[in-house]
Amino acid sequence: MAETFVYDFADGNRDLKDLLGGKGANLAEMTNLGLPVPPGFTITTTACRRYLADGHRPDGLDTQIAEHLASLEAAMGRRLGDATDPLLVSVRSGAVHSMPGMMETVLNVGLNDDSVTGLSAQAGGNDRFAWDSYRRLIQMFGKTVCDVPGEDFEEAIAEAKRAKGVRDDLALDADDLRGLVTKFKKIFVKHTGHDFPQDPREQLDLAIEAVFRSWNAERAVLYRRQERIPADLGTAVNICSMVFGNLGADSGTGVAFTRDPATGEPGVYGDYLANAQGEDVVAGIRNTVPLQDLEQLDKKSFDELMGIMSTLEEHYRDLCDIEFTIERGKLWMLQTRVGKRTAAAAFRIAAGLVAEGRIDLDEALRRVSGAQLAQLMFPRFDLSSEPTPLTRGVGASPGAAVGQAVFDSRRAVELAADGVPVILVRRETNPDDLAGMIAAQGILTSRGGKTSHAAVVARGMGKTCVCGADELEVGRDAFTVGGTRIEEGQVVSIDGTTGRVYLGPVPVRPSEVVRYFEGELAAEYSDDPLVAAVHLIMSHADAQRRLRVRTNADTGADAARARRFGAEGIGLCRTEHMFLGDRRELVERLILAATDTERADALAALLPLQRADFVEILREMDGLPVTVRLIDPPLHEFLPSLEDLAVQVAVAHERGEDAGRTEEMLAAVRRMHEQNPMLGLRGVRLGLVIPGLFAMQVRAIAEAAATLAREGRDPRPEIMVPLVGAVQELETVRAEAEKIIAEVIGDAGVTVLIGTMIEVPRAALTAGQIAEAAEFFSFGTNDLTQMAWGFSRDDVEGAFFWKYLELGIFGISPFESLDRDGVGRLVRIAVQEGRAARPDLKLGVCGEHGGDPESVHFFHEAGLDYVSCSPFRVPVARLEAGRAAL
Ligand code: PEP
Ligand code: MG
Repeated sequence: MAETFVYDFADGNRDLKDLLGGKGANLAEMTNLGLPVPPGFTITTTACRRYLADGHRPDGLDTQIAEHLASLEAAMGRRLGDATDPLLVSVRSGAVHSMPGMMETVLNVGLNDDSVTGLSAQAGGNDRFAWDSYRRLIQMFGKTVCDVPGEDFEEAIAEAKRAKGVRDDLALDADDLRGLVTKFKKIFVKHTGHDFPQDPREQLDLAIEAVFRSWNAERAVLYRRQERIPADLGTAVNICSMVFGNLGADSGTGVAFTRDPATGEPGVYGDYLANAQGEDVVAGIRNTVPLQDLEQLDKKSFDELMGIMSTLEEHYRDLCDIEFTIERGKLWMLQTRVGKRTAAAAFRIAAGLVAEGRIDLDEALRRVSGAQLAQLMFPRFDLSSEPTPLTRGVGASPGAAVGQAVFDSRRAVELAADGVPVILVRRETNPDDLAGMIAAQGILTSRGGKTSHAAVVARGMGKTCVCGADELEVGRDAFTVGGTRIEEGQVVSIDGTTGRVYLGPVPVRPSEVVRYFEGELAAEYSDDPLVAAVHLIMSHADAQRRLRVRTNADTGADAARARRFGAEGIGLCRTEHMFLGDRRELVERLILAATDTERADALAALLPLQRADFVEILREMDGLPVTVRLIDPPLHEFLPSLEDLAVQVAVAHERGEDAGRTEEMLAAVRRMHEQNPMLGLRGVRLGLVIPGLFAMQVRAIAEAAATLAREGRDPRPEIMVPLVGAVQELETVRAEAEKIIAEVIGDAGVTVLIGTMIEVPRAALTAGQIAEAAEFFSFGTNDLTQMAWGFSRDDVEGAFFWKYLELGIFGISPFESLDRDGVGRLVRIAVQEGRAARPDLKLGVCGEHGGDPESVHFFHEAGLDYVSCSPFRVPVARLEAGRAAL
């Protein structure tokens, strides 16, 4: 039997969404609920995919359309194109995922030079209506099906109004519109080389094909990319008998929601426009009135509509949005779907439906997402004054930040210390900018993508960041964009969600939800329904989840905040950040040491500083595990750049001066220079090459733990070795570390675990061997992604990811969301072989992916014990871990 490409509305249901698209499946559902839906049928997404692949309508489709059209005509008692009593149909797209306004629609199909007279008779001799409908068809068909420029039609309408000396479309009478139809037909011929088709079936077939094609229209492709909708689904096409809201004062059209989609507040909410068609509402030609006004205008239809909306909410157990038309006092339902909503509304509606007993807590948890929670946690600009953006970059770390532009980290620190809010503006940032980044309200760069240094560090701090704003020319004391020059001290506002940059201050609203997590708003005392909803759903997520959630934190302050946000320990404390700032000089001494004694002296000076760092962090996380990673990056990152040093030395020589220590430093940096530092002397390799470096760090950790234990506290340090690729590396470090720990801890009663990062593919592939020497694994998915793909994490996003996204090689950057097939496979291998070798092996992840909602689901499935992410993403990870467990 031939494949079924066409379903009558009465034959479908909402479970057939993949086949019938959202609109078709829901029209079928409403038809079967007995609601007043104009009869029609749906052409499947399969037919669309075939059409797009083969370039023509699939075999069998035309016959099936003819059959369904015949039964539609029989049901309506009218024929398409009939000269006396014509049937007209609408042809509308309807994809599986809602893509509002992205694809095409053609209304009034079936009108031609003959049936226009029949339509007038049907409408009680309303010639104006009939000719207006006909001109709308030619206009929409011309634009959508045949690419006739819309402006030509618009211009003809404007011309007709000018000729008549009127301003409103409604002032054009039947004769004017008949004249317009003649003009429109000429425009049509001019652009297409043939007449407007009079055969209604030809109109229908061409309109269907145009809707198929609109799946690949530029804006639809862009929208899908933005919303992460797969590119190969295709759209269904709905053919529905036309009903008219523009037949007089007893007709009209509207859209409505069963609850407020902006706030989630209960109570119907919508707009109505009398004597109009749906497209008039969208075009905003006339002002709508609130739905409540319909009660006065047409009480019967209003009451019926309220009844239907409550049936729909009851049936879908969710917020529904609808489109309806009233044709001479008769209500018709043209669409419904589970409505889009803001993040705040999602939480409130879910909690509201639980309170009303319509859904349970599991279902409420399914209906919200980590991405929505993240949105609720960032302060936002109040854009009611509609400020014009100066430029735009990549929204790399959400939030709204306002401050004086500064171009230098030291200056940022100075001004911030005086209480001046600043935005650090740089071409790009590097580890030297850390202090400035901490001091700034937000960070703006002209180069780099979502995994550039600025972006990653800013996200880690929960600090607003816009990066890659490539119209900016960033100099030492100003930046320019277009012709505008902005100097230090001028105020800029940056929106890390949208990437927009504004000149001057834009007002900011703080997040209530963060205040709640911070403990400033106890949920039980809060009369904010949003906070109460978040509290309800988060509590359920915590009760459901199996994954623990830790945080990546390198300071006591971050640790404390993360703990308030629900972190159950630290999964990654990056110690390299402790080697910057005023300790840089000691680090330089260490690196440049010419003798063992010089090196030992530098390490001895660093020891108490490190110990103090660890005391602070372990104290904040008392009773919870704290994974401290031994130093990881290449050492030359702690020295000035080769270029800067070379310039300084050259200048000194030019002046006949002795460059002294700078020259020494230049020689050292030259010696250490690597072509591929990320694949060079870093991580465990450093620990094996520089005597005493790891030993100093291990000692500092052990001494800090012993100190706290003797104070009666419960420190739980875990020492983590970075970049291990072979078990022998880990065994060597482990042997030395165990000796130090035994010596320092003595009888202080502290257990110190020793484990490793799994971030080199070889480590994942030899996990069985490595587990012999590791009590835990923590997946460093940043490096694992970099090395599995061979993508330099600092370069590729700006260089070519846009092309890869465009080509669909991946739907999202693998640095943002874990590549399940490749990197995920390495994770699974390591989990399986690691656990086989050591059943009580603790498993976690500390790469950026630990806070990415999609990736959290993967880590749950892969059987990890915990994820670790930046403090601000802890609540998001808790929520998603709960959802993953459902
Ligand atoms: C990683 O590689 O995933 C990781 C956490 O380490 P870093 O980002 O510091 O290299
Ligand atoms: Mg790493």
